[in-house]
Amino acid sequence: STLLKVVLLGDGGVGKSALMTRYVKNNFDQKSFHTIGVEFLNKDIFYLGNSYTLQIWDTAGQERFKSLRTPFYRGADCCILTFAVNDKQSFANIDFWKKEFLYYADIRDTNNFPFIVIGNKIDLGQERTVSEEEASIWCGNQSIPYYQTSAKTSENVNIAFFHALEIFAGS
Ligand code: GDP
Ligand code: MG
Repeated sequence: STLLKVVLLGDGGVGKSALMTRYVKNNFDQKSFHTIGVEFLNKDIFYLGNSYTLQIWDTAGQERFKSLRTPFYRGADCCILTFAVNDKQSFANIDFWKKEFLYYADIRDTNNFPFIVIGNKIDLGQERTVSEEEASIWCGNQSIPYYQTSAKTSENVNIAFFHALEIFAGS
């Protein structure tokens, strides 16, 4: 099985742990998950005659665990930048997370590293403050694919993670 390391980054509270849990275990827990330090879950996928293991790395409060940054980022095949569509600041911060990742993962070819952006919590329609258009424009300018998801309802979660696999297997 080919191992693909996928790193989830974004502000606390945007739903990184919920997305990982929804994708790997197909469940959702309303309460916060209180991730401590780093943690990953594996998901095995059979695709186009080959088997892959998506190893999804989740974290919380990376700034509190500075020494863990390098092993967390290093060797990543894909980085998923996550924000919540009801949290404008979390959207503004994805640029910070992108730069943080490129620096600590020690990526040389910074223009071609495969990022994916996820705008999560689309089930909170009424509270939405980041429009699809605004996020699409930012992602389009950087040639990064954009997915809108809900870890709560599971909408688009599989397809967003699957894109990480397709980058390697499908092209
Ligand atoms: P993290 O800090 O990025 O790992 O965020 P969590 O996964 O802990 O989620 C933070 C809070 O948002 C929790 O209370 C989750 O239940 C909630 N949450 C996560 N994803 C969604 C979602 O898609 N929709 C809604 N309504 N709430 C969500
Ligand atoms: Mg978490």
